[in-house]
Amino acid sequence: MSLNLLPYPNHLKELGGARKLAESEPRLLQDGAVAPEGYRLTITADEAVLAFADEAGRFYGEQTLRQLRNADGTVPLVEIDDAPRMGWRGFMIDSSRHIQTVDEIKAMIDAAASYKCNVFHWHLGDDPGWRMESERYPLLNTVGAWRDGWGFGNPNPARYGGLFTRAQIRDIVDYCAARHITVVPEFDIPGHSSAVLKAYPNLSCFEKECNTTTQAGVYDNVLCAGKEETFDFCFSVLEEIMELFPGKYIHIGGDEVPKDNWNACPLCQKRMKEEGLKNGEELQGYFTRRIAGFLKAHGRIAMGWNEVLEAGLDPDDIVAVKWDDPKNVCDAYANRGGKVLNENRHYFYLDYSYRTTPLRKTFSYDPLPDTLTEAGRKNVLGVEAPIWTEWVEDFRRMGYQCFPRLLALAERGWTAPGTRGYDEFKRVAELQREPLAERGIEMAPYDEWDPVAK
Ligand SMILES: [Zn+2]
Repeated sequence: MSLNLLPYPNHLKELGGARKLAESEPRLLQDGAVAPEGYRLTITADEAVLAFADEAGRFYGEQTLRQLRNADGTVPLVEIDDAPRMGWRGFMIDSSRHIQTVDEIKAMIDAAASYKCNVFHWHLGDDPGWRMESERYPLLNTVGAWRDGWGFGNPNPARYGGLFTRAQIRDIVDYCAARHITVVPEFDIPGHSSAVLKAYPNLSCFEKECNTTTQAGVYDNVLCAGKEETFDFCFSVLEEIMELFPGKYIHIGGDEVPKDNWNACPLCQKRMKEEGLKNGEELQGYFTRRIAGFLKAHGRIAMGWNEVLEAGLDPDDIVAVKWDDPKNVCDAYANRGGKVLNENRHYFYLDYSYRTTPLRKTFSYDPLPDTLTEAGRKNVLGVEAPIWTEWVEDFRRMGYQCFPRLLALAERGWTAPGTRGYDEFKRVAELQREPLAERGIEMAPYDEWDPVAK
């Protein structure tokens, strides 16, 4: 039986026996030889030392020590030499389709940090609603953040919406920083823009009235790529985003962009002619390059869902997020030098049912497949799991969908495959039920994790 650690350390030696630690233990030791985010924890009969090179490593060593403590206060004697397999261990929360409270977001952050996740990707705007308070574009707050009714099948007609104020966002960013988590905000453009266009219909091709959506789907409410005012708006919102979010990466969406309006719009057609673009895909490539270039000029790095690669971007243009990529376009991008984040929907989408994505499937997936070359493997930043909230109306549901599968994501991001088997992982995952409940998170019942195929 392995020790009750999650994620499991990459190198661990049990020395046998256990003892209580003194107040002054473990001794903390700054050691530049330890890997970034890594730590060395040595607990013998004579000494207890936690060594690390950086503060994140110290934090992760403390998480391991917390998990090691037995109920009687003793700690097993061990030598652990540990560092993450991947530098990006992320979780995404969709706050557009359903919104959460600040406390709910913080509970998720606390849980993720305790399992050594280090990125919170925050999906803040989409067709159903805009969620980031804007100083420059007040109609995003008063108009874009609301929809008339919500829910599916039997919709609730009540007005639904809200947003995170700038003060709340700053609070959450600081909360994350204290737990060694970087926040990556997402401004999903030029598609999934119904909330923006409800507030500012002048940014669309035909300036028609647009409403926020109450049903799941892909809508043709896209920003006009022919108008300069669209770019002025995007740059200005990105400036507001950069003010609130100090992290290096900013996600600019780019997924599911219907080209119908662009193909009919005189301004988009004019742009294509002037820029020598053959089709809508190339126009999206033009759009993405301008937005990514703006961020680059401000010292930031753009990320986009894998559709952004369809225009054939250069490796230094953007980080591609692999979510739905049957042709392995992302692997090819990584192999020729582009950076990729693996968020493969078949394994990591937490809104999928356990029948579609059992825990075992998420745990058993190796995010560095054979289609990557040696160089390509190094270009995969890491892994991330999103919770899309179409069907996740409240926090109870969020806990059910996310846990335990987010634990499997945490282990795949930190621990090399084969370090411990699935049955042992599953046993330790069940032990997280109580600590998660203390944070207000209700994990899915054990017998639902791996439904037997019928
Ligand atoms: Zn247009």
